[in-house]
Amino acid sequence: MTVRHEVRLLGREPCGDDILTLRFSRPEAYDFRAGQWFTLTIDTADGSETKTFSHCSAPADAYLETTTRVSTSAFKKALAHMMPGDRAAISGPGGRLALASDEGRACFLVGGTGITPVRSILRDAMYHDRVFDDSLLLYGSRDERCVPFVEEFARMSSHGVRLELCFENPPIGWGGESGFITAETVLRHLDDVEGIPFFVAGPPVMVAAMERVLDDLGVPDVRRRIERFGPPTKHRAGAE
Ligand SMILES: Cc1cc2nc3c(=O)[nH]c(=O)nc-3n(C[C@H](O)[C@H](O)[C@H](O)COP(=O)(O)OP(=O)(O)OC[C@H]3O[C@@H](n4cnc5c(N)ncnc54)[C@H](O)[C@@H]3O)c2cc1C
Repeated sequence: MTVRHEVRLLGREPCGDDILTLRFSRPEAYDFRAGQWFTLTIDTADGSETKTFSHCSAPADAYLETTTRVSTSAFKKALAHMMPGDRAAISGPGGRLALASDEGRACFLVGGTGITPVRSILRDAMYHDRVFDDSLLLYGSRDERCVPFVEEFARMSSHGVRLELCFENPPIGWGGESGFITAETVLRHLDDVEGIPFFVAGPPVMVAAMERVLDDLGVPDVRRRIERFGPPTKHRAGAE
């Protein structure tokens, strides 16, 4: 049986033009694993609506957080207008995206709001004081105006997490990665891809693009950890 919990908005952190991180109270009876998702039900102009969101907070945090891109949908408009103290309902958790405690290497290929479950996983690893042999976070972003949690990820370098930003529209003078993430981008930062689990999360189009990158790299399904934020698109890996 799905249990529904009442929560309240505790705070909101805008980033750039349209990214919003929302912090909710955490019900006592609610537990989850890093990388899992929950469903959020709020009142909208079209009535009560429910959508799925990944946790970007860690299980050790006293609150629940997610990050989203505000759109013109009734749901997102209502979400964007929520104020601290406003009520919502959540249920869950769900999902199997996870990093095992004995995995010393991992590669995360994410962009935009796909960062949510990855932030949960890496934040959880930091709570456990994990030091990776070497992990790569290849983090795609439209531009430098909003890169959620970038300072937090940069601090993880002391724990074996290498952050490489890839800007679609890089700032003038940027010496790092730019454009879209490709197999060549990955290989500039990883000597070999053998035995490494690859994490991909985000909107279906982004996931389809990263699946093509994994195809090009020859990463077998067994090492692909994928969270698609919606139904698969027609742009399947390998397709035009
Ligand atoms: C397992 C899972 C985890 C998810 N985690 C998150 C999360 O952490 N953060 C988050 O923002 N969303 C997440 N989503 C997606 C979320 O449930 C919504 O579908 C999404 O945010 C778009 O909602 P919307 O109301 O803006 O657009 P909709 O009314 O659903 O769609 C409007 C338009 O937006 C486009 N669109 C649909 N989904 C996305 C998307 N994810 N990003 C950009 N454009 C989109 C569609 O092509 C459509 O044209 C997750 C979904 C699943 C299934």
